[in-house]
Amino acid sequence: MFSPEILLPGPTPIPSSVQQAMMTPMSDHRGSHFAPVVSRVRDALANLFQVGPGGAVAVIPASGTGALEAAIQNFFAAGQRVLSISTGAFGDRFAKIAQNHGLSVDKVEVPWGQAFSPLDVVERVAKGLYAGVLVTQNETSTGVLNPVQSLASLLNNLPNSRRPLFIVDSISGVPSVSMEMVDWGVDVVLSASQKGFMCPPGLALVAATERARIHLKTEGAYGYYFDLNPYFEGQLPYTPAVSLWYGLDAALQLLQEEGVQARYARHHTLAKMAREFANAGGWHPIVDEDHASPTVTAIELPPSYDPGDLRKKIARQGLQIAGGMGAWHHHAIRIGHVGAVLPSMLFGGLGTIAHFVPHPDRALSAAWAAWHAYTIIEEV
Ligand SMILES: *Cc1c(COP(=O)(O)O)cnc(C)c1O
Repeated sequence: MFSPEILLPGPTPIPSSVQQAMMTPMSDHRGSHFAPVVSRVRDALANLFQVGPGGAVAVIPASGTGALEAAIQNFFAAGQRVLSISTGAFGDRFAKIAQNHGLSVDKVEVPWGQAFSPLDVVERVAKGLYAGVLVTQNETSTGVLNPVQSLASLLNNLPNSRRPLFIVDSISGVPSVSMEMVDWGVDVVLSASQKGFMCPPGLALVAATERARIHLKTEGAYGYYFDLNPYFEGQLPYTPAVSLWYGLDAALQLLQEEGVQARYARHHTLAKMAREFANAGGWHPIVDEDHASPTVTAIELPPSYDPGDLRKKIARQGLQIAGGMGAWHHHAIRIGHVGAVLPSMLFGGLGTIAHFVPHPDRALSAAWAAWHAYTIIEEV
């Protein structure tokens, strides 16, 4: 059988150079073959996240949730108070992890489909004494891009003694949306290999600035395997996921060739295509344009549709898209346009989905709207 086309918010398509790099034969992971890969990847990641002098990026073997858990374990102790801002399923998950580790969690729940308000958050922070603020940059369950930079600048205005550690889940954000840790004042950013990084699942990334590293718990304060100290110091404490490292190295090379600004622009174009398609087809992109995620678009379907049934029909055409999460399961689909997705690929996928818009006479307008969104942006 042909492998499916995928427009998912992870895992994402793997470019052939990445696929090939992952077939590199094994060698001693502490030997001379692998060493240059490790240093290239570390340098490229530090540069990408802009961790600044004294900052570092830990690459640990886990899916993204492992990065969330590692951050909680390494930067906080049980009993410490954190403010957790949830704008959807992944924000809920971050709060739950903090609770399970015995932190005292004040949770702010923003209605699904909306972004958090930086002013509201900083007001809450000013009222309590928090060791940390946990947020999601790109909420994959709803397709919302949250204003992380604005919140960072407000938090930075707080006196140092009251300034919490600012921790951002950007698992479906970086490197598809901008992140300038030192300039913005973000202390810790979490990501993972299987979304914008165009690799298979299996590597979790924890980027920390020097300020964050000062808050790192000392070795032995908790657990063992997810102790980030050796990773930040540049060691590979346990057998690394060697093949995934080769893949990440090749993927970062592709990112450099494309250029980060060009990549952000590409995802902006893709999001615009998906939204215009949905609007013209008689469906409804749930999130306002101002807060729309560049990497995933949630589309509300009329009650006459069963999203599961629709996804099955689309899958029979060889295309996999995602369903709604949580309460959105019954009325929404999500189209992922993250990682190695080019406008032509999205256009092809939307062309398939166009068969299923509410009125047959709208199929052509929907496809045309997607194409138009693409060409308009190209001309700018
Ligand atoms: C994908 C994702 C995660 C982590 O999911 P894993 O399945 O553990 O990789 C966490 N947060 C966000 C925002 C995500 O998109």
